[in-house]
Order: sequence, then C-alpha cells, then structure tokens
Amino acid sequence: MNYCPRCGVRLADAEPRCPLCGAAPTEEAPPAASAGLTDFPAELARPAGPVVRATPLDGLKRSERSRLALELLGLVFGIALVTTLLDRKSVV
Ligand SMILES: [Zn+2]
Repeated sequence: MNYCPRCGVRLADAEPRCPLCGAAPTEEAPPAASAGLTDFPAELARPAGPVVRATPLDGLKRSERSRLALELLGLVFGIALVTTLLDRKSVV
C-alpha cells in the first residue's frame, strides 16, 4: 500500500503521484496519518475519461491559428504537387 507523505492518504499502487499535492508516494504510512488513516476521497478523484493537456496551440490567437492552418495546408498541397510532378516525369 502506498501513502502520500504530505497528505497521509492511501494511494492506489498504480498512482505515480499524489493527486492532491503531487508528492511521490511512499511505501510506509507517515506517522501523522497512521492515527486517522483515510482513503483518498472519491469526490476529489479524477473524473473518468481522457486527461486534457494544454497544447502549444492554446496560447495562439485565432488569427495566428488560421495562419498556421493555412501554412500547413500549403505545405501538404506543395508536397502533393511536387510528388505528382516528379511521378509524371518518371513515367514519361
Ligand atoms: Zn499528497
């Protein structure tokens, strides 16, 4: 059984960090927690589902996103055009 050394809550063995404070779990119960040991409160547990992480796109303005999308689109079409032209040349 793993415990958070700061909060004193019991953590699931698969939990790499305490969801409350982020501390690395320890194998032994901390002395402060051994008296009134409690499980991690279910209402504070992470909701089921994918974890949404911040991406570099989150910091961009709408106009910057549009420009980036256009640049990527241009790059894709540019590569498609070049490969098509090279393919034609090799056939003829
Ligand atoms: Zn903790």
